[in-house]
Amino acid sequence: MAQCVPPYLFAFAAGAIGSRDLGPRTRVYAEGGDTLLDDAAREFAGVEDMVKVGESLFGPYEWERFDLLVLPPSFPYGGMENPRMVFLTPTVIKGDAAGAQVVAHELAHSWTGNLITNKTNEDFWLNEGFTTYAERRIVEVVQGEERAALNSGIGWRGLNRMMERFKDNMEFTKLKPKMAGIDPDDVYSEVPYEKGFQFLWRIERQIGRPAFDEFLKKYIATFKFQSIDTETFLDFLKANVPGIENQIDLDVWIEGTGIPPDAMEPDSATYRKICTLAAEFKSGKIPSEDEVADWSGQEWELYLENLSTDVEASQVTALDERYKLSESRDYEVKVAFLQLAIPTGCRCYFNEVEKCLKQVGRMKYLRPLYSSLAKCSEEEKMLAKRIFSEAHEFYHPIARSVAESILSKHG
Ligand SMILES: [Zn+2]
Repeated sequence: MAQCVPPYLFAFAAGAIGSRDLGPRTRVYAEGGDTLLDDAAREFAGVEDMVKVGESLFGPYEWERFDLLVLPPSFPYGGMENPRMVFLTPTVIKGDAAGAQVVAHELAHSWTGNLITNKTNEDFWLNEGFTTYAERRIVEVVQGEERAALNSGIGWRGLNRMMERFKDNMEFTKLKPKMAGIDPDDVYSEVPYEKGFQFLWRIERQIGRPAFDEFLKKYIATFKFQSIDTETFLDFLKANVPGIENQIDLDVWIEGTGIPPDAMEPDSATYRKICTLAAEFKSGKIPSEDEVADWSGQEWELYLENLSTDVEASQVTALDERYKLSESRDYEVKVAFLQLAIPTGCRCYFNEVEKCLKQVGRMKYLRPLYSSLAKCSEEEKMLAKRIFSEAHEFYHPIARSVAESILSKHG
């Protein structure tokens, strides 16, 4: 390739890899034979259209090809935005095109991240916050406003959970935290993604979408193929949107801890309905078949994540008897459910937890499952340790050390 890239974007893949063409500049690669390739080709059929949407929003696609490589289940991330060939977890292939969101995210990196990346790890939000914003703009065009708002809603829940996780160490709730002496993997969280998204969305609301779109395109054209820091971004913002510092408290957003008062919970009919249904679960109401008729994985994920955590085992079992969430093929749903079930002390899900931890090495699932088990009674702790001792060789080294540190933290 002729384009310059920073070293973190350089990757190798080796294996008995086959491929299917998806469009003139898009192709999906995978190991594991025709069935997986056919499933992947179906799941990602809309990828060429997505690239066109990205170009209309953010300017020319600079990398010529946008190919996808589906990795084995031990791949520790949802995706990795290696230019020209994105690496993906096989868990995004769900058979309902819901994987579009992860692909939209990695595609968005083609502009925000791969063209302009963060100079230091303290500026990580410049990479992931912009990409989360760009991802949702792509999703909005491809899948509609309701779906984009639902994604933002899931992100909003995640951001609020991070405030709880870091309540004794609020430094890591800052958009620009101090990282000297810190291993980024130890404090990796949704904060740079979701607080970064909120910050950009806040600016968009202030100046209006057309002006913000112009600003974004100019920002990308100005700094492409460079690594920049937060101060460079702020100078550019103030120069191009005069007076913005009098309308938005930029210091609170960049240096402040917690969620700024002018952040906004996303709103849409679907999002509101799911939150209401989740609140009703506390008094024992399980949603009816009619109410969930058009739910896909993301609706379930949002519903489960909104349920109060002090529910009874019997309620959790009743929910699962009706909707078989613990056996869902969608890991997002399965893990959200198991995370709810583990603290109730309901041992009937041990088997599903074990299967899950041994089948998939994606950190998004390992982290909550091992944490939930480690925080429970001795029996759950023992289970976590046994599973880890049997599964650790299957995990990627980064995932392995994350699981290890969770287990050692809770003794
Ligand atoms: Zn990303």
